[in-house]
Amino acid sequence: MGVFGSGLQRLCAVVAAATAGLAARQVRRALKQTPTVELRLDWLRSDGERARFLRWLKKNAPRSAVFLATCRRKEGGGKFNGDVAGELFWLMQAREAGCGWCDVEIETLRQLPNRSVRGYAVPPKVLLSVHDFDRTPAFPRRVAMPDPGEADAVKIAAAAHTIGDSLRLLRLARHSKNFVAVPMGEAGLPARVLALREGSALAYAPVAEATAPGQIALEEMKHLYRAHQLTGRTRVYGVIGDPIGHSLSPLLHNTGFVARRIDAVFLPFLVRKLGDFLEAVPELGIRGFSVTLPHKQSIRKHLEGCDSLAEAIGAVNTVVVRRDGSLHGSNTDYVGVLRALEKKIKLAGSRVLVFGAGGAARAAAFALHRAGATVVICARREAAAQALARAAGGEAVPRRALRTEYFDAIVNATPVGMQVGMQVGMHPRAGVSPLAANELNCRVVMDLIYRPQQTQLLKIAARKGIVTVSGVEMFLAQGFAQWEVFTGQRAPEAVMRRAILRALAAKESRS
Ligand code: NAP
Repeated sequence: MGVFGSGLQRLCAVVAAATAGLAARQVRRALKQTPTVELRLDWLRSDGERARFLRWLKKNAPRSAVFLATCRRKEGGGKFNGDVAGELFWLMQAREAGCGWCDVEIETLRQLPNRSVRGYAVPPKVLLSVHDFDRTPAFPRRVAMPDPGEADAVKIAAAAHTIGDSLRLLRLARHSKNFVAVPMGEAGLPARVLALREGSALAYAPVAEATAPGQIALEEMKHLYRAHQLTGRTRVYGVIGDPIGHSLSPLLHNTGFVARRIDAVFLPFLVRKLGDFLEAVPELGIRGFSVTLPHKQSIRKHLEGCDSLAEAIGAVNTVVVRRDGSLHGSNTDYVGVLRALEKKIKLAGSRVLVFGAGGAARAAAFALHRAGATVVICARREAAAQALARAAGGEAVPRRALRTEYFDAIVNATPVGMQVGMQVGMHPRAGVSPLAANELNCRVVMDLIYRPQQTQLLKIAARKGIVTVSGVEMFLAQGFAQWEVFTGQRAPEAVMRRAILRALAAKESRS
């Protein structure tokens, strides 16, 4: 058992609010999830709020909880405007209010006589913390613990720019006792979830929504990622991409694992260079991963094998890691398009227009051709449309032909109409349609975009009485297929679907 205890006790809720009232509310929320709570006293906007909050804490703090007080000065990366004497004053007040631990930065210790806080009536247990907001420095094999009288645990929080950076911090956690590893930044997020499994004494998660990249809100950390329950036996999966912050795949896959009680976790990996991730695969014990932009093509050269359809499409979105470490790729995007469209029309013998000639268009065109449809491609670059038509056994039409041609279904495979903030590059905003009403001469329109769920294209189609299919159907179908490849079990589709629709609705109502 570590200095903070075991299991849930190692999941530390972070309370950070500007007023005493908000902080008190966060403490109540935190204690519903975990008995260990860090109080960021430096976030309170004035000494008055700090005093009010600590008075409240003294009256209301349950004895069973462990409170860790932090009043980080600006010099140490916090918000507290005062000097070292001010920091120590508030830590002493925190002890009075019932805090058993305090977090003291190395910058503070350096300014004290004997480099020690022991002469002050601060909370009895001391977490000595070191922050590097710029990079992850080189580390020795293990952290040399200070004299037991000086500190009870050591924390290193360092900015991880790569997965390799965050691994170095995890290795330190593996070999050091009473040590807290905090990889910061989006590239460090998977390591933040895995920190407890690797031996970190604590993992932090904010009570309120994450305020910086790389943080995971407490509720998600506990219920979706289950950081406190992960062990060496837990199977690790993930999605790789850049950007990755918006990905709904972790929600989809983890919801499935929780529902089926599978000891597995699915993490979002921000991957700029494939080599950075691939080197981490054996060390983290990764058993499989989803692949998204911009790696769907470039991953192929790292694979030992690839199924024939993925080979023909030229893109892989699912990779399984075999026992010998070799990587095997497949493509479930095509299943996604088929399953979603098949619910609305019989594809064999139908005529389907794919608008766009990029990666998703390619998967759609191959899938439709294999399902027996006549595939027609239209793209803003006619040469790209012709090349795809040739490869997928279809035909290309120029844009001007759309007003007079009839199709059983039209599939938008361009990003036009996607919600701003979700796009890679400069794409037009949501509210714009890639095709005009008089170009929609068909029975069914499917948009591959799923944010928003009801795109302008689908609205125009619905006004014309055309049956519509949202891209969320494709996203779900390709995800279910992927989950089944990873687990070998039937996906619990209803619960996974509910989680995604709820998250999309919440995101749309916020934007
Ligand atoms: P991609 O490889 O970048 O291809 C985009 C295609 O759209 C290209 O043909 C591009 O033409 C064309 N395009 C871009 N802007 C355009 C504009 N303003 N007017 C006309 N054409 C335009 O992207 P992708 O991976 O195929 O993704 C396309 C869309 O499908 C995205 O919105 C993505 O989110 C969605 N998608 C959804 C799912 C799902 O599960 N629902 C899965 C995969 C993709 P140029 O080559 O001339 O630039």
